[in-house]
Amino acid sequence: MTERNGGLGYQPPENMEKMMTISRDSVVEWVKAYADVVAQNRDYLTQLDAAIGDADHGINMDRGFQAVMSKLPDMADKDIGTIFKTVGMTLLSTVGGAGGPLYGTLFLRAGMATAGKMELTLEDWAAALDAAVKGVVMRGKAELGDKTMVDALSPALDVLAKAAQNGEPLAEALKKSAQAAKQGMLDTIPLVARKGRASYLGERSAGHQDPGATSSYLLLQTAVDVWADD
Ligand code: ADP
Ligand code: MG
Repeated sequence: MTERNGGLGYQPPENMEKMMTISRDSVVEWVKAYADVVAQNRDYLTQLDAAIGDADHGINMDRGFQAVMSKLPDMADKDIGTIFKTVGMTLLSTVGGAGGPLYGTLFLRAGMATAGKMELTLEDWAAALDAAVKGVVMRGKAELGDKTMVDALSPALDVLAKAAQNGEPLAEALKKSAQAAKQGMLDTIPLVARKGRASYLGERSAGHQDPGATSSYLLLQTAVDVWADD
């Protein structure tokens, strides 16, 4: 009895803490990991954009996140809000087109919602994503079903907010949220685009997966890989 309870079965508090909150360092790890994911998916995202846009989404995102990587030294010891704001401002100043300013806004809003924080609970992360998605919607005016990044982000936010309300474990909530983003991304395939360059194609935009919805799914899946790794 004593051997079982006091021995191997015990989970060190450090581990527990890792599962319950997202540390400042994990936020930086997420940004770095996403820069890698974008670099690895640069051609894929660009090909998706070639089908219904101007073949630059992967190039734009990669340029932006390489610039973000060069700002990492500025983020040392900064709070999460400042980290997100730095990412957002870097994207705004280095990426043209629609995607850059929209991702810039996403991170700026997340930064405002997390100002001064050195760690995030699930509730904090849900509030940050809520502010981020609202910012994207405000800036781009896209609604659900317009075949944009909002189609991945909005269902992911809904699932995350519900999980936070229900007090679900962080890792589970993150996984469900990324799963919803993936479904939202896949659901863009049959849609006719009503926003952005793809909308110029009208009906011909149907049958293709939206590039921005894809990069947004990758963003949330990277959060699972970095924050919910168990
Ligand atoms: P651009 O369209 O200027 O070439 P990108 O290729 O980098 O910019 O990004 C295209 C992506 O941006 C689209 O796949 C779509 O998800 C997203 N997007 C475009 N316009 C909007 C909008 N008004 N609201 C939300 N997302 C948009
Ligand atoms: Mg493009």
